Amino acid sequence: MVRPILILPVCAAGALLLASALVAPLGHAPATPADTPAVSAPVPAETSPGTAAEPVQKPADPPLPAARPDEKSQKQAVLAARDLFSKQNLPSLGKAVAIGYYPRGCLQGGVELPRDGETWQVMRLSRNRNWGHPSLIRFLEKFAPKAAKATGWNGILVGDLSQPRGGPTPYGHASHQTGLDVDIWFMPMPDRRLSNEEREKLSASNLVSDDWKGLNPKTWTPEHVKFIKTAAQEPEVERVLVNAAIKKEICRVERKNGAGWISKVRPWYWHHDHIHVRLKCPADSPNCKKQPEVPASDGCDDKDLAFWFSDKVLGPKKPVFRPAKPMTMADLPAACQSVLNAPSASLR
Ligand SMILES: [Zn+2]
Repeated sequence: MVRPILILPVCAAGALLLASALVAPLGHAPATPADTPAVSAPVPAETSPGTAAEPVQKPADPPLPAARPDEKSQKQAVLAARDLFSKQNLPSLGKAVAIGYYPRGCLQGGVELPRDGETWQVMRLSRNRNWGHPSLIRFLEKFAPKAAKATGWNGILVGDLSQPRGGPTPYGHASHQTGLDVDIWFMPMPDRRLSNEEREKLSASNLVSDDWKGLNPKTWTPEHVKFIKTAAQEPEVERVLVNAAIKKEICRVERKNGAGWISKVRPWYWHHDHIHVRLKCPADSPNCKKQPEVPASDGCDDKDLAFWFSDKVLGPKKPVFRPAKPMTMADLPAACQSVLNAPSASLR
């Protein structure tokens, strides 16, 4: 049995953490809001990553007095980092850099994905989470027309990327903190511009059956395979998270082709109404922490998938969820303090 990698973070409804913490895999609570459903995985503590923003001291220099946090930082130290980051409506000044780990980091110099493109529309505009590292914006600008062509859809509906300065979110995700994660809905873009209200109220299609063991024939289409395949084939994509029932179908349809991209498509909790695309750490972000590589196997063997359909995930004894303890600034890389308090970048 292949257990999920617990440090793999996902979108999370209400930033939930599992009570059984690091020992047990996450459980699966079927009833879920349609938008950004999922649970978050516990994240092991990181060693303190150095950052490009930290001054480098030359050996010959006299010793400097220990840096003392300024008054603002001291006040911020006791607050939940998610509340601090969510109040920043604009990106920080500075070159774009992804800092830290997907569920424990931030984003300097974030770039906005335009709300509308020819082949995409951003949903849930009120959240102001259409910001990312430039590599993620470039990915979406490239992926949207490719996905439209592959599926015959008018385009794609884009869910959350990151907040303007990344960081933890008050609700909805454990990851999406470094500007390298994006949720994309399992639903074609309509042939018109949606109103702001529609973008708040519409829900994505649930492709999975009520018992979570198979697909929903009313919503599933072969085009969904093409949609996922188009994302997973992009070289900068590190992982694509989907519900296990969807992974199983992809294996059934595509495995015979020996497609290398299948290993990037990873089963994970929820993800029945959207894919979560995660990019690799960009070359310009030396303090972006890599996730362990996906296993070389395609993950299509029965033993690979059995866990996801077992009682441990779907049964009545599935684990109990409890709210996560909010992170403070001390839980994030030190450079995130500078990102939080940096002047705002002027918009393009
Ligand atoms: Zn996500």
